[in-house]
Amino acid sequence: MSRLKAAVTALEDPAASDPFTQEIVQPVADAPVEKPVVNEPPTAPITTDQLLQLIATMQAQTAEAQRQAAEANEKLAAAIIKTTEPREVLKSTKQIAAEENEKLFEENARILNKRRKMAIKHEQDNCDHIGGCSLLGEMRDLQGRTSILWHTTDVGVDTGICLVCQRFFRPGDPPDAQGHDYSYWRRKPSMCRISKAGVRTFLDPVRAMEESYLHDS
Ligand SMILES: [Zn+2]
Repeated sequence: MSRLKAAVTALEDPAASDPFTQEIVQPVADAPVEKPVVNEPPTAPITTDQLLQLIATMQAQTAEAQRQAAEANEKLAAAIIKTTEPREVLKSTKQIAAEENEKLFEENARILNKRRKMAIKHEQDNCDHIGGCSLLGEMRDLQGRTSILWHTTDVGVDTGICLVCQRFFRPGDPPDAQGHDYSYWRRKPSMCRISKAGVRTFLDPVRAMEESYLHDS
């Protein structure tokens, strides 16, 4: 190759004329072909359906927790309200026994009181209120005077009590067992000296007289 031709070739193809360039540029047949890098989208950890299912599960769990909390609060409120209710006081065996004894004593006392009143009424019904008529008396008053102690109150009412049977005599008394009323006994002379209170005046003397002594209930 002449110098001229080499120069022309160098102008047309500088790489061809340069032996170093030719070695670098020439592709090597056995060199591995580099594959282009493709940016693929990252794979999602879970699918959309799985995510929706997870959300639904979490919502269900939240609702269940709220329901349980509401139920627990309701029970707690009921328990608190129940503590305010009055409760029966727990009693010991000794207290229960004492109460039973108390009931027994009261019942016995009621029966005894009833019998005592019956005995007193029986004695009063069979008393003729004559001086010395008591079973312990030596003799009855020969003049038939009564054993009634009379007292004139400050409103002018005469009330009496038999010193033998302790029966009271008051105006308005119903007839006794012998059929005698207040006037009958008041008219009879008594062995006892009458006592008398001071005198007072009242705006309503009739009412004052009625209220001056106890009435049988
Ligand atoms: Zn009497």
